[in-house]
Amino acid sequence: MDSFDYNTFIGRIWFERRDIVSGGYDRSLNYIKGIFPEMEIHSYPSGTNVWTWVIPEKWSVKSAYIKAGNKILLDLDDHPLHVMSYSTPFSGSISQEELMSHLHTRCEYPDAIPFEFSYYQPKWGFCIQHDKLKDFTFKKYDVLIDSTFERGELKVGCYYIKGRIDKEIVIIAHLCHPCMVDDGLSGVAVLLKIADFCKNNDNYYSYRFLILPETIGSIAYLSHNEHIIEKLQYGIFLEMLGHDDLFSLQRSIQGNTLIDRAAFLSLKQNTTEFRAGGFYDVVGNDERVFNGIGVNVPTISISRSNFWSNGHYPEYHTSADTPDIITAGRLIEAQAIVINLLKMLNLNYYPKAIVKGPIFLTRYGLWVDWRIDASLNAKQEMIFNYLHYGKKSIIDIAYELDLSFDQVKNWLDKFYENNLIEKLSSAHAIKREDD
Ligand SMILES: [Zn+2]
Repeated sequence: MDSFDYNTFIGRIWFERRDIVSGGYDRSLNYIKGIFPEMEIHSYPSGTNVWTWVIPEKWSVKSAYIKAGNKILLDLDDHPLHVMSYSTPFSGSISQEELMSHLHTRCEYPDAIPFEFSYYQPKWGFCIQHDKLKDFTFKKYDVLIDSTFERGELKVGCYYIKGRIDKEIVIIAHLCHPCMVDDGLSGVAVLLKIADFCKNNDNYYSYRFLILPETIGSIAYLSHNEHIIEKLQYGIFLEMLGHDDLFSLQRSIQGNTLIDRAAFLSLKQNTTEFRAGGFYDVVGNDERVFNGIGVNVPTISISRSNFWSNGHYPEYHTSADTPDIITAGRLIEAQAIVINLLKMLNLNYYPKAIVKGPIFLTRYGLWVDWRIDASLNAKQEMIFNYLHYGKKSIIDIAYELDLSFDQVKNWLDKFYENNLIEKLSSAHAIKREDD
């Protein structure tokens, strides 16, 4: 991959009309392919059944307006979001009452155009700044939405990196929100940087990076690649990473798997404060598909979104979700958190004692001086107990004893060097738990 900086990447494609099956989406994915040639593009034609869903048609809109007499009240040329995504075509002269039933505004953000869509129910609609409603004082309006539906192809970008084992970690981001940045595109940008890092790394797990249109893209890809589902060990969904807020970890549906714990440890290590919630507390995107029926892969999400119950960031799903509300620095923080959690999973092992009795720590230089590391000193005895069974990994021990991954690993590595423990692979340990 040619190195790219976040501002250049986002500047190049954020204003594309990236509807789920659309010319703008395809141009954006082709641009990504240009800087990341290793990525494969998979295509699924409109009308294809994918599990219980159907791939929609390709949608485009050439022109649209609302006029009253000679006055133009709304013009698509002013902003692409003025027409609801996947709006059916319409032209005619209509009453005020009828127009209002097709006009979407966001009163909480009155100078922004809301992003509205109707992918699966045929409807037409316009979106406009709430502040502009005061101009709509006429009895009759001439309206036009010159949109077209045609057969097209839904596109998914996939980049696979073979690790030492076939078990995979899948990392997912969606590219499909038109003319917006934080929702969707920020996750794609961070995903690409992580893929670039993993490409040159010695990886324990294999990795599968997916860039797709939200929900339907995950369903299309998985339904055509069911054979990989059993290989998927964990998933990470990324979005809303650039705006000014704390990070949020949304746990997998299982809630307490290794990736849930690794993500928690990484956030604790890299931030002073973050939110952590259960499944569906924060976002509801592609992680629903990966955690969901027939797939059931523990999939977390990392974002800066607040919990549903507290509302999203103010610019969410509006024309105000622009490069102005994100910074490259915040994306770099997100990148570091995910890379750090992947490193933990990469270096993780299950320590099991191969000696008997309490270990004579001083003999091996393993006694932890409380003056140097008080927290580890206080928990040495607890870790001993875990070594008997070998069912707790470094990540589990660090998580349960509120230590850092590096503290625990550096100490236990010395046990290994002194032939006091063996290192079990995760697969081996999980099998034992099942026995
Ligand atoms: Zn969204």
